[in-house]
Amino acid sequence: MKRLTLLGATGSIGLRTLEIVSSFPEEFQVAGLAARGSNVELIADLCRKFSPAAVALLDRGAVDRLSRLLAPPRPELLAGPEGLVALARDAEADVIVSALVGAAGLLPTMAGILAGRTVALANKETLVMAGNLMTAAARRRGVKLLPVDSEHSAIFQCLVGHNRGDVHRILLTASGGPFRETPRARLATVTVEDALRHPTWKMGAKITIDSATLMNKGLEIIEARWLFDLTPDRVQVVVHPQSIIHSMVEYIDGSVIAQLGVADMGVPILYALTYPERRPTPAARLDLTRVGQLTFFEPDTEKFPCLRLARTALEHGSAAPVVLNAANEIAVAAFLERRIGFNDIAALIERALGDARTDDVASIEECVAVDVETRARVRTLVEGRTA
Ligand code: NAD
Ligand code: MG
Repeated sequence: MKRLTLLGATGSIGLRTLEIVSSFPEEFQVAGLAARGSNVELIADLCRKFSPAAVALLDRGAVDRLSRLLAPPRPELLAGPEGLVALARDAEADVIVSALVGAAGLLPTMAGILAGRTVALANKETLVMAGNLMTAAARRRGVKLLPVDSEHSAIFQCLVGHNRGDVHRILLTASGGPFRETPRARLATVTVEDALRHPTWKMGAKITIDSATLMNKGLEIIEARWLFDLTPDRVQVVVHPQSIIHSMVEYIDGSVIAQLGVADMGVPILYALTYPERRPTPAARLDLTRVGQLTFFEPDTEKFPCLRLARTALEHGSAAPVVLNAANEIAVAAFLERRIGFNDIAALIERALGDARTDDVASIEECVAVDVETRARVRTLVEGRTA
């Protein structure tokens, strides 16, 4: 029996993971659940269904409401950012499913690593911010960081059984998002609804906007750099609108190995939870004759500057990826609140990177400080734009 703690239990990845837990009741048990606390009724349902030993909610008021909704014996209830850290550190779990969105996941995920727990990682923003520190801590503790992101799960699977020195490059596939065929001049006026209409994946709002700007692919280049210890020039982005090939590894002898499957996060989640074993999928299977065609294009970095900005930040290193991520989080939130236009997202990030510190980020505390400082700076820029 594997005991799981889910960080981000009420989100798109969290709920999909819990469906898998339900499909394999003899294999998985829920040790802990964490979420923001915006939907207490849902969390109460999850507690009744999965009987976690502990629950942590960011929102302290939500913890009181949850306590009133649950009949004893209740799970241990924890509150605030320190509650999430305590849950990841102390709840007796074999695996932490890291599926909070954004920088909020950094300290709890790090706490899980330091406690020696395997991490199934969906929360790519944490690796963007602190890939060096997280992978070093995982190595020191002998902890596995298993990818949940579909592209990274694909790369991971294409690497199994091969010599790492034989890798020529990684071909990271991208759907191209909802604006792949939208003329560049039209992007200034696209709406939040347009941007939330993703062609192939159903996901949380933040990553859906990241997919529309292609920042998601930029974050994934940085994620691949840390998960697979690759130099950035070894990662090439290929637009593949059908989202059937989830990524590929090209070897020095010219062989290209791909991983294919339906666009369902259940597949990479299940692999991360059962690795190195496999289990029969409870979900739909791929039928290539129904897909018919697989097509491939070069990404347009003029139209989608976020891809270029992410590469620049990675090459620059030190504080730049932290600034990139923080600026993106604030800009995406402002776009979702309809305070700025779609093209302002990239403009704000470029501006934030231009003013960024260049000194090294040597600890998680420094990383958090750069994150907090950048958020404040970009919020001021947003105010300036909306004023
Ligand atoms: P989501 O918005 O659906 O869910 C986010 C979860 O995190 C919720 O449980 C929410 O309560 C919690 N949360 C959000 N902010 C929080 C905060 N400040 N403090 C505590 N809890 C907070 O997001 P998602 O789509 O499930 O994505 C989660 C992560 O997985 C992201 O990093 C995303 O990039 C990554 N990811 C998602 C998918 C996908 O298909 N959804 C695919 C690949 C990677
Ligand atoms: Mg992905």
